[in-house]
Amino acid sequence: MIRPAELIERKRNGEALADAEISELILGYARGEIPDYQLAAFCMAVYFRGMTATETYALTDAMIASGRTLDLGGALGRKVVDKHSTGGVGDKTTIAVGPIVAACGVPVGKMSGRGLGHTGGTLDKLESIPGFSVDLSVDAFVAQVREVGLAIIGQTADLVPADKQLYGLRDVTATVDILPLIASSIMSKKIAGGADAIVLDVKVGDGAFMKTLEDARALAKTMLELGRHANREVVCLLTDMDQPLGAAVGNALEIAEARDTVRGEGPPDFTELVLDACARLLALSDLRIDVEEGRRRAEAAVADGSALAVYERWIRAQGGDPDPNALPRAPVVRELRAPLAGHVARLGAIDVGHAALHLGAGRTAKGDTIDHSVGVVCRAKRGDVVAEGDVLAEIHARSEDEARFGAAEVLAAYVIGDVPSPERSILLDVVA
Ligand code: URA
Repeated sequence: MIRPAELIERKRNGEALADAEISELILGYARGEIPDYQLAAFCMAVYFRGMTATETYALTDAMIASGRTLDLGGALGRKVVDKHSTGGVGDKTTIAVGPIVAACGVPVGKMSGRGLGHTGGTLDKLESIPGFSVDLSVDAFVAQVREVGLAIIGQTADLVPADKQLYGLRDVTATVDILPLIASSIMSKKIAGGADAIVLDVKVGDGAFMKTLEDARALAKTMLELGRHANREVVCLLTDMDQPLGAAVGNALEIAEARDTVRGEGPPDFTELVLDACARLLALSDLRIDVEEGRRRAEAAVADGSALAVYERWIRAQGGDPDPNALPRAPVVRELRAPLAGHVARLGAIDVGHAALHLGAGRTAKGDTIDHSVGVVCRAKRGDVVAEGDVLAEIHARSEDEARFGAAEVLAAYVIGDVPSPERSILLDVVA
């Protein structure tokens, strides 16, 4: 029987722990036998001392062993592909990628999470669609993937329960942004969820956990290794999160933008990321095509309306109304105008994320209720040229006071300068 205090001390002193020790610690915590304060101290020791590759494998294996695993591929008789983002501002990628990939003949069954802090969660966005349910039994989930080609639900409580507990603990003990803990948290869920091949969207920049390309590459490499260790194919896209993705930030606003993108009318940066992610998922699937052909098929599914048809079938299958006019609307919509002419040199993702959060679009604590209608639509983005008085953004708010406050916060996110800002593509690198 391990003594948690001894393991914390050894990790604090920089020692590498044995696989069995890590396993007992994580499984003991998941069973409620080891208290939060000891795991919190352990996470902080990991924050300062890190983990070896072997320790990170052991941690991931223990997290998976804490609950059940799914064999979606076996149930469908197909190779199953999945995508995951490390989290950002305005990230509604899954909601657009799912219907496009499904329209290309590759089934998508995905378990997603909720947002916390300045990052939004796919489930919260989907719940802004009137009637949409994210609570399907595993059997209903598999049946819908088989019949419709697409289902997105909340993660079931028995899949990697240790991550659920640990993530909540990390969130309140300043131990979220640690590479081995992020990598094992993400990969344990993807592996337990039954994906054979995974496209990981690793966000880089101001609004992401990984602030630099170097840190993002290190996270990507660790997740790739964890995938290899579990016999999974993994491709990591390193993508820009210095500014919000697309224009919309806020739940219903993002659903409308994802739907626009599925019908070929999305913002350019978001459209580029969606089509690239689709191309890579299709290339990893059992269609036996390369990335170029995947891109061509994804573009065709958008152009011929088949992706929109899948989107509508999917939303209806989960009880929702796919009509964009059915989405909730904020009672107050105010335009934020440019105080001066110039080039948009910066649009801080985290500032816009916080503005949306304060408008009511996100949670500051677990269990907070969110207002699906509110948020920000960024009409001007980095690199755009604006004249004085041009619309920079729309603020969707519950009241005039909140709109005024939100507008001030969003204005502070913009830097307008004299010189054009250098072009920066949404896709910064691919690690495979
Ligand atoms: N996303 C996760 O699922 N886990 C982390 O630790 C960070 C981002």
